[in-house]
Amino acid sequence: MAKYLTRGHFSVDKNIAFMYNGKGIKLGDSMKIDISEIISTNHKSVHITTQLEADSLRCGTELYPYALKSPVDITISNEGKSLVHICGGGSVDVLMPCSRCLDDVDVKLDYDFDQKIDFNQVRSGTLDDLDEISFMEDDWLDVDRFVEQELITRLPMKVLCRPDCAGLCPVCGKNLNEGDCGCDRSVPDPRMSAVQDIFNQFKEV
Ligand SMILES: [Zn+2]
Ligand SMILES: [Zn+2]
Repeated sequence: MAKYLTRGHFSVDKNIAFMYNGKGIKLGDSMKIDISEIISTNHKSVHITTQLEADSLRCGTELYPYALKSPVDITISNEGKSLVHICGGGSVDVLMPCSRCLDDVDVKLDYDFDQKIDFNQVRSGTLDDLDEISFMEDDWLDVDRFVEQELITRLPMKVLCRPDCAGLCPVCGKNLNEGDCGCDRSVPDPRMSAVQDIFNQFKEV
């Protein structure tokens, strides 16, 4: 079912469309919901409980694996004149590297969303900022991207595995939470400059 999907160039073959059950279908690594009927039916409202398909949260060039994904609750309502209200929420646990020792830290993120989209503007091309609806592919809502957009704003800048994390030895790179390595850290070994860089980058935390 490898479908190449790009914005404005979206197609679903008949077999996949047949599998659509009103709760979204998995396309590629995303959950997608066809909302064309909601857009075109005044005051139609649908409540959907679905799930995230992606394995990790993408934030720029970083990928943070999901350790836990709750179901996503979504209510999609047509408020008249193609104004569509999307609201709901859920929660995830993502694994982020400790800012000092780089060990995985389990970060719980609750999220909710509440967004209105005027599909008259979308269709007439008069919407000011298309980035605002980058999770739409024609009339399909990409649940993973929609939730991702919310989660990114909730990610902490830096995390620590514990408040007194001792970090990495700048000389040998050993995780100092596991004990001291005996290095003389007043004279860093230039061969460990990469580790030193990481250390310097994070030691202000
Ligand atoms: Zn740590
Ligand atoms: Zn060391």
